[in-house]
Amino acid sequence: MHTKSLRSWLEYLRAQGEMVEIARPVELRYELAAVVKRLDGQKAVLFSQLVGHPGRVVSGVVGSRELIAQALGVRPAELSRRFARALEGPIPTRQVRPDQAPAKEVAVAGEIDLTALCPIPTHHRHDAGPYITAGLLIVRDPDTGKHNVAIHRLQVLGPNRLGILLLPRHTRQLFRRFEQRGEPLPCAIVIGVDPITLLASQATAAYGVDELEVAGALRGEPLPVVRCDTVDVEVPATAEFVLEGRLLPHTRAPEGPFGEFPRYYGARGEREVVEVVAATHRRDPIFHTILPAGREHLLLGAIPREAGIFDAVYRVVPGVQAVHLTPGGSGRFHCVVSIRKDEEGQGKLAALAALSTHPDLKHVVVVDEDIDAFDLESVEWALATRFQADQDLVAVSGSQASRLDPTSVRGVGAKLGFDCTIPLDADRSRFTPIDIPGYEAINLADYGLDR
Ligand code: MN
Repeated sequence: MHTKSLRSWLEYLRAQGEMVEIARPVELRYELAAVVKRLDGQKAVLFSQLVGHPGRVVSGVVGSRELIAQALGVRPAELSRRFARALEGPIPTRQVRPDQAPAKEVAVAGEIDLTALCPIPTHHRHDAGPYITAGLLIVRDPDTGKHNVAIHRLQVLGPNRLGILLLPRHTRQLFRRFEQRGEPLPCAIVIGVDPITLLASQATAAYGVDELEVAGALRGEPLPVVRCDTVDVEVPATAEFVLEGRLLPHTRAPEGPFGEFPRYYGARGEREVVEVVAATHRRDPIFHTILPAGREHLLLGAIPREAGIFDAVYRVVPGVQAVHLTPGGSGRFHCVVSIRKDEEGQGKLAALAALSTHPDLKHVVVVDEDIDAFDLESVEWALATRFQADQDLVAVSGSQASRLDPTSVRGVGAKLGFDCTIPLDADRSRFTPIDIPGYEAINLADYGLDR
């Protein structure tokens, strides 16, 4: 099965012509990110030679909706529905013996030196240094036994120290409980996992939902996991790298700036610190890096959020058809929702429901079902021809917003909903799209043209 591990996925990508391998030595500082960016959304890239490091790096492994849909065995338009269903029925993990877990093939002896162990790139001009950007931070709530999995940006601060940005979500919630008792929070940082576990790590589910079990639900079978050597945490058994350590209580260090998903820098600040105490990896391991603001980054954030929006809109507008967090909106700020409108006012209601799902979501465009939410020219056409600002706009000021939106003020900003649905009582003749009989059947080859 091509989604069992990062390696089997890379083999699949290679066979599909979706991955290129670069054998020329590439610098970890800027050059690697520049090459990834040039191929963004087109190809995954495996760097097999690096200047000054014996390792290998891959990026862009889920660079398109089409590829993520292939990993999950659905059509791209079904992704949000598929993800929403997985959240409803998590499947417990399956423990494998350490001697059968590829992640345990090599145990690192002696002191940990992160940059010697892992080829960690520096991505953007003003980044504070090398960052691990595709590290799944796994912690376990000792009261419930459930894991939490999330990707946090991790800046290399020293040989075995990482600065970490903990947004006010689940990892921080658990860490605060440990810190109040003066205890470190045991954790594992896993780099190089299969595409489904990678996607599952971005689930926006409630606290207590184990993202490893969401990965099982997306796979349709339990995710094989193995217990870490020094911490009571389980990790995907096929992972390329496993760093074991702890989040230190009452310890802060400067972290940032760091080029973030909205294509601006997240600011420097005093942040929590992870100390790495042990590490294992596969033989000849492959380090995964996510280019910030690249398609891989945006899609990993967008698809799980689309599932949440789909659910929220469905509760009040059952005719919801599709949800699209657009790349121009950095996969977070702009959303298109298409609905089959049965009752007047559902366009605005759908916008309000969508806007309530996440502080980051800023502008929502609601269109009728004849508009393809993934075709942005069609969406703009709906905005141009089915929208009047004095009647069809919903504006909310003073809402919680993304701190990474540079126009927000201390995390507060405005939200807008654009109702681009045709009024149910409208004169339909005014909204009849032009069309030409026989257009679909035209085959240009019949006219002596080769396209
Ligand atoms: Mn969680």
